[in-house]
Amino acid sequence: MKIDLTGKVALVTGGTGGIGAAICEYLASVGAKVATNYRNEEKAQEWLKETSSRGFDFKAYQVDVTDTEGCAKMAGQIEEDLGPIDIVVNNAGITWDTTFRKMTKEQWDTVLKINLDSLYNVTHPVIESMTNRGWGRVINISSINGQKGQIGQTNYTTSKAGMHGFTMSLAQEVARKGVTVNTVSPGYIATDMVMAVPEDIRNKIIAQIPVGRLGTPEEVAALVTFLASDHAAFITGANFAQNGGQHMM
Ligand code: NAP
Repeated sequence: MKIDLTGKVALVTGGTGGIGAAICEYLASVGAKVATNYRNEEKAQEWLKETSSRGFDFKAYQVDVTDTEGCAKMAGQIEEDLGPIDIVVNNAGITWDTTFRKMTKEQWDTVLKINLDSLYNVTHPVIESMTNRGWGRVINISSINGQKGQIGQTNYTTSKAGMHGFTMSLAQEVARKGVTVNTVSPGYIATDMVMAVPEDIRNKIIAQIPVGRLGTPEEVAALVTFLASDHAAFITGANFAQNGGQHMM
């Protein structure tokens, strides 16, 4: 089996982060032209420099995913720069953890806006064009904790569970137009964020994972790349648990 995305244009939000960067590289490695967005200019410039030194040619736009107008403008700019967007990976996301009793409205709103409102902001400007052209892929990066819940994360788990509601509804709306919509729910992945957790706590997390290790950003990127391909045309509205067996649905 060969995956070939030559000529396809992909927008991966949060491509400068751990999982997003791997997704950008995997999609580009099978021929897609890849764009991303970011907030942190310095980090993005470093990422562009480092990836271009390895032969990648990514486009990056400084747009916050909570900015509805900015996301619409970005979609227009990507279309001008690379062509109409065929693949959207809604990957940008944050955590801001605390127990619900201590959670401020700001903590609630910020996580919901970045993780959930972004689905509207990023996907809405491109969905019409995908359906008109009869081909499209929307892939939403949720989390194991959106499937099982987690103490200290009512804001995050609400947003991540909500992502899959969006997936199932939009999948039904666009299925006959050649557009698939799916959710990937990773477990604990060895990104900087997780590797920064003290080793003893990390080991306790790993002890709860049947395969006995953390996942890698590349493993998530491989699943996303498969879902973006023609091989996955019959998969829509699905939620993929990619968590080393930590939570089985
Ligand atoms: P990360 O390294 O912190 O990267 C997050 C990315 O999102 C960064 O590129 C960041 O860009 C971008 N971002 C955040 N808020 C943004 C905003 N308002 N507007 C635009 N971009 C924004 O995180 P990660 O670990 O790769 O996680 C990626 C996704 O996977 C997230 O949705 C996360 O919830 C999910 N996930 C991660 C794990 C894990 O174990 N790591 C497990 C399950 C699910 P800036 O730095 O420029 O802000």
